[in-house]
Amino acid sequence: MSPKPVLSVQNLVKSYGSFTAVNGISFDVFAGEIFGLLGPNGAGKSTTLEIIETLKEKTSGEVWVNGMSIDKSPEDIKKIIGVQLQTAGFYPNLNLKELIHLFIGLYQSEVDPLDLLRKVNLEDKANSKYKQLSGGQKQRFSIATTLINKPAIIFLDEPTTGLDPQARRNLWDLIKEIRDSGTTIIITTHYMDEAEILCDRVAIIDSGKMIAMDSPNQLIDELVASGFEKEKEVKKANLEDVFIHRTGKAWRSES
Ligand code: ADP
Ligand code: MG
Repeated sequence: MSPKPVLSVQNLVKSYGSFTAVNGISFDVFAGEIFGLLGPNGAGKSTTLEIIETLKEKTSGEVWVNGMSIDKSPEDIKKIIGVQLQTAGFYPNLNLKELIHLFIGLYQSEVDPLDLLRKVNLEDKANSKYKQLSGGQKQRFSIATTLINKPAIIFLDEPTTGLDPQARRNLWDLIKEIRDSGTTIIITTHYMDEAEILCDRVAIIDSGKMIAMDSPNQLIDELVASGFEKEKEVKKANLEDVFIHRTGKAWRSES
């Protein structure tokens, strides 16, 4: 017997006039997965997420979150999902504790702001203003705000874009911790190393269509089995390994 999906997307279509941004995408995500949406800019990843998040109207197709239809129960769905706001949504002059209080009010949640900040390793920044944070810290804070309503599933749209290597690893640890504590995660990224390390399964989307879906390992094995060979012999380390090794900072010591 296969488990029930936490998220089920069937034949999702989104058109803007004569342009079809999402062209019949279907996938299921199961509890406890980190599921990656990959694909070039403009492929339709964010549009797909925003429809599932109830922020955008679909043209056709069906979406179920925890068995609830997005057409019939958008308000109930909103209560069990965590959505990352665009960073512009944070008042720059409030400190982190005040910002979390604001969100707790919106969600009528009973989370302790300091507990939440501790979870994302920002407890010592509780009295700092959002605008004073580093890029990695801003991302961690924005992930904290997705956890306020103790969601079953959270959506992270390119959470590591623009971060330095340490901050990126730091965020991977956090994302795994959130998954291990029982939240399913849907993430988009342009970093294939990240998808390979983080995601249980990935879907590759191109021009609004899904062109592959499987575990990273399985997709790589299939490519190799098809006769593909890398042109260069692969070294045992890459430049990123050098960077991490030389800068040597612990992954959590990002300032
Ligand atoms: P991705 O997140 O994969 O980079 P998006 O989902 O943001 O891609 O966009 C998919 C396509 O839909 C792009 O070609 C984009 O220009 C187009 N698009 C997004 N929003 C609108 C809109 N409001 N009106 C017209 N086209 C849009
Ligand atoms: Mg996008």
